[in-house]
Amino acid sequence: MKDAIQRGHISGDGFYTKQCSKFFQSRYHFTFPLLTTSCTHALEMAALLIEICPGDEIIVPSFTFVSTANAFALRGANIVFADSGQYNPNIGTDGLEALITPKTKAIVPVHYAGFGCDMSFINSLAAEYKIHVIEDAAQAIDSYYCGKPLGSFGALSTFSFHETKNIISGEGGMLSVNNPIYLERAEIIREKGTNRSKFFRGEVDKYTWVDLGSSYLPSDLIAAYLYAQLESMDAIQSKRLQLWNLYFSNLSDLEQQHGVQLPHVPDNTTCNAHMFYLVCRSLVERSDLIYFLSSYGIKAVFHYQALHTSQYFQPNHDSRDLAHASRYSDCLVRLPLYCDLTVENVNFISQCIWDFYRRRSS
Ligand SMILES: *Cc1c(COP(=O)(O)O)cnc(C)c1O
Repeated sequence: MKDAIQRGHISGDGFYTKQCSKFFQSRYHFTFPLLTTSCTHALEMAALLIEICPGDEIIVPSFTFVSTANAFALRGANIVFADSGQYNPNIGTDGLEALITPKTKAIVPVHYAGFGCDMSFINSLAAEYKIHVIEDAAQAIDSYYCGKPLGSFGALSTFSFHETKNIISGEGGMLSVNNPIYLERAEIIREKGTNRSKFFRGEVDKYTWVDLGSSYLPSDLIAAYLYAQLESMDAIQSKRLQLWNLYFSNLSDLEQQHGVQLPHVPDNTTCNAHMFYLVCRSLVERSDLIYFLSSYGIKAVFHYQALHTSQYFQPNHDSRDLAHASRYSDCLVRLPLYCDLTVENVNFISQCIWDFYRRRSS
């Protein structure tokens, strides 16, 4: 960050922004990675790029962060919520096709916990009905599906570098433009609706307002922070994976013995150790577990409340029961997982969870 300051250019698209882009190009073969101020903003850019109009329908899982839906709702889209699958919170494939109507413009799979959605199914459905696929890969950095990095399956995909993710810059994100037809407008939208990027490359002799846009370009200070994280990515990822695997081996017998659902890595996908979660059998069991762990100084937390039941959206929901989304809302609990956590910490937390279930069943 000091170096970015000394280079005398701390607004967007400076030296470190370019270093980050090169990293994503060489490591993941993302052709046009554009850093953004957040994943939320990358999703808003995607909504502008596919020209969402009022009345268009977007299919989104209900069990996700609010931005996945809100970015499209801002442009007037009607959100159609899909249920999660039985075995993990990702968008379920059963019944997905039935949600498509002539108004459907896009489907937005979210790779929950960094596990890839069934992208072969989703992409073939999308091709058949000629709808866009936009991946919300906020949690999916450095995770793969069928040998290809997540974030390379949709025409557009979005990542987050919020401090809760694996690779962070405080706030920050990225839009990966995988279909080059969107590139020119993506640069314009990110630069307040101007062709300033072209101007800086010397392609036009002055820049002007050419389209709708906003200010979605992060400062080079943020990019410098991010670049330092990227340089440490292998160390960060191997530490996280070590902790994740330890949780899994410590806790896997809970499934047989106490009916707790563990995060099984689906076929064809890898684990990026973004999150370690358990799915309890009931809301009461989860609340008791969270309370029990807190008495040992362990902060375990639940996650999304299904968006189809949210205060803002519930009056518009079409009354379909999204049973799995509701179950994950009520029963999923996340365990501490961060780089400075130790093997001893994970063993202690695992031991406390076993104590909880042994006491409960005795
Ligand atoms: C974190 C997250 C976002 C939002 O990311 P920001 O960078 O904070 O805007 C969106 N979608 C999902 C699935 C997330 O986990």
